Amino acid sequence: MKKMMVIGAGGVASVAIHKICQNEETFRDLLIASRTKEKCDKLKDELSGKTKVNITTAQVDADDAKATAALIKSYQPDVVLNLALPYQDLSIMDACLEAGVDYVDTANYEPEDTDDPKWREIYEKRCKELGFSAYFDYSWQWAYEDKFKEAGLTALLGTGFDPGVTSVFAAYAKKHYFDTIDTIDILDCNGGDHGYAFATNFNPEVNLREVSAPGSYLENGKWVEIAPMSIKREYDFDGVGKKDMYLLHHEEIEALGKHMPEVKRIRFFMTFGQSYLDHMRCLEDVGMLSTTPVMYEGREIVPIKFLKELLPDPATLGPRTKGKTNIGCIFTGKKDGKDRKLAIYNICDHQECYKEVGSQAISYTTGVPAMIGAMLVSEGVWKKPGVFTTDEFDPDPYMDALNKWGLPWKVDEDPVLVD
Ligand code: NDP
Repeated sequence: MKKMMVIGAGGVASVAIHKICQNEETFRDLLIASRTKEKCDKLKDELSGKTKVNITTAQVDADDAKATAALIKSYQPDVVLNLALPYQDLSIMDACLEAGVDYVDTANYEPEDTDDPKWREIYEKRCKELGFSAYFDYSWQWAYEDKFKEAGLTALLGTGFDPGVTSVFAAYAKKHYFDTIDTIDILDCNGGDHGYAFATNFNPEVNLREVSAPGSYLENGKWVEIAPMSIKREYDFDGVGKKDMYLLHHEEIEALGKHMPEVKRIRFFMTFGQSYLDHMRCLEDVGMLSTTPVMYEGREIVPIKFLKELLPDPATLGPRTKGKTNIGCIFTGKKDGKDRKLAIYNICDHQECYKEVGSQAISYTTGVPAMIGAMLVSEGVWKKPGVFTTDEFDPDPYMDALNKWGLPWKVDEDPVLVD
């Protein structure tokens, strides 16, 4: 029986914690640690009496690697699941190394302060060398490879849905359906409606930074960067219907490009409604998405952080959101000398997720794979020394776990391709 420590108590953590508490065959103890202890206690109260898993809570500032390491050492978990923000990835990895415990997260590192000159120098060099300008990338965490290897520890990066499940789908397609994969299109459709004119489905700061950035994709090993939202397609999604989707930069393109270099083109599309795009453009035009502090009435404020305070908390969208998500991948390539195409995807219903764990489907589709990744690492099924993404392990146990823990997937051997 395993001992788990979760850092963070937001939308995704809430689902992962519900799932850890359902998974009594793997987990016996759980520590929920976050910046605001009341949120940890609230989750503990919600679950008390409904699970055999022993839950304790603690306050921690995960930006402080030393304090985080001390807490990990005192609790001695089998694995630390980082469900705080991408800003904390490196300090929590440092803490895990110091405490000698495996590390798991759902999103790659991004600095909180993109004006930090030390970070900017490395970032600008990377933009020039690699050709994509997103603030988030894997280089910072891949740089920990030797440290984790030497310590005999595993770091599993990006085990949410996308990234996470989408890369497992790619590994599964490669293992069972293709001799060579030529193209991968990752399609993320949220057909849910929360009734607000504008709200984000996960942390607004992280979400808005991601979607307002230039789009990019990999073609023949090179990044092609485009203006934000400048490539649009319509797609008819099973379970949802026709939606407009836009090409975005996304983290799994980088990992899949590195680990499956034979794939000629990798793209990522996400659906957005017109109202969302109009609001986002307006907020960007007036400077509300900026991360650079401004002085207001003698106080320094960061516009995007202030905006976060005004927007609905994603954790409150659950009861209002109706409809389904459809997220997956379309592959083309060859098998036994013949052309083949294939889609693997999951459909998830917002209201069913709410009934089960009190959250909407975006948090659900991230929190379930987070639990699965942590489970496989802690059980030793996905364990090897070093830093890995989810496409680098045997996909079969993960695919079985998706069916078991609430995210069943479908295979379509004749999907409509995206032009
Ligand atoms: P939330 O903002 O809802 O929750 C973040 C939590 O982290 C909060 O409880 C927050 O505490 C806590 N936190 C923030 N800073 C610190 C700190 N310094 N020390 C300790 N705790 C801290 O975010 P989400 O749940 O929506 O997202 C969680 C993660 O999941 C993010 O990294 C996000 O990028 C990722 N994600 C990944 C997806 C995927 O498919 N791969 C999809 C969606 C999200 P407080 O309550 O005090 O604010």
